[in-house]
Amino acid sequence: MTLLRVAGLDCRYGLLQAVRGVSLEVAQGEIIALVGANGAGKTTLLRAIAGAHGPHSGSVVFDGVDITRLPAHRRVALGIALVPEGRRLFPGLTVEENLRVASSRRRGRWTVESVLEVFPLLRPRRRMQAAGLSGGEQQAVAIGRALMSNPRLLLLDEVSLGLAPVVVDAVYRSLARVLSEGATVLLVEQDLTRALKVANRVLCMLEGRIVLEGDPKSLDRDQVVSAYFGLTRAI
Ligand code: ATP
Repeated sequence: MTLLRVAGLDCRYGLLQAVRGVSLEVAQGEIIALVGANGAGKTTLLRAIAGAHGPHSGSVVFDGVDITRLPAHRRVALGIALVPEGRRLFPGLTVEENLRVASSRRRGRWTVESVLEVFPLLRPRRRMQAAGLSGGEQQAVAIGRALMSNPRLLLLDEVSLGLAPVVVDAVYRSLARVLSEGATVLLVEQDLTRALKVANRVLCMLEGRIVLEGDPKSLDRDQVVSAYFGLTRAI
């Protein structure tokens, strides 16, 4: 079943066209990695799906409902959650409070307890302010906060950014549990090896367009690297 359908999406910052005519479909249960160089338009695309950036043209349809002009909080209520680049926690609130502010009326598997179970590193930090956490702990809270809305589509923007490899491993170990339960995920990941390992489908963006799409098992790494740097136009 198609959960998300993006058609001909154009996003601009003034005269700059950050996303150019992007169309994509996400089926329920898919894990899609969105890769591409800095400035390719990945973050803007995720923000447009989440309702944090109003597109210039094109449409976003979620579970058959046209949400192109719907504000972000209404999209959360429908089941779209974004883990933004830079985490954006409430620094003065505790871990638990950061999780609780995101709990929605959408019932489901995710509660403070189940998030702490999947991210055990947060349990002893439960009553600590977010400002005092390490980068990896903050990332875990950011993912946990998104899960608290019991999303049907999870959008993850650069969860590894600025984290030590060993911390990234821990975050991905926890994420693997979330993914194994049939979550539908669109994730932006700079680390190509990790992206190819975790995803069932890879999309590569270059200068606002999707220039390569495929199953990571059948794509060879050189093909992805070429598309990533625009060495050849793959499609
Ligand atoms: P990165 O990996 O660096 O985050 P990205 O692929 O996510 O890159 P975007 O952040 O979506 O790309 O940026 C796409 C283009 O839009 C870039 O040229 C960027 O400079 C520009 N851009 C992004 N945010 C803004 C903004 N708030 N105002 C103006 N231009 C922006």
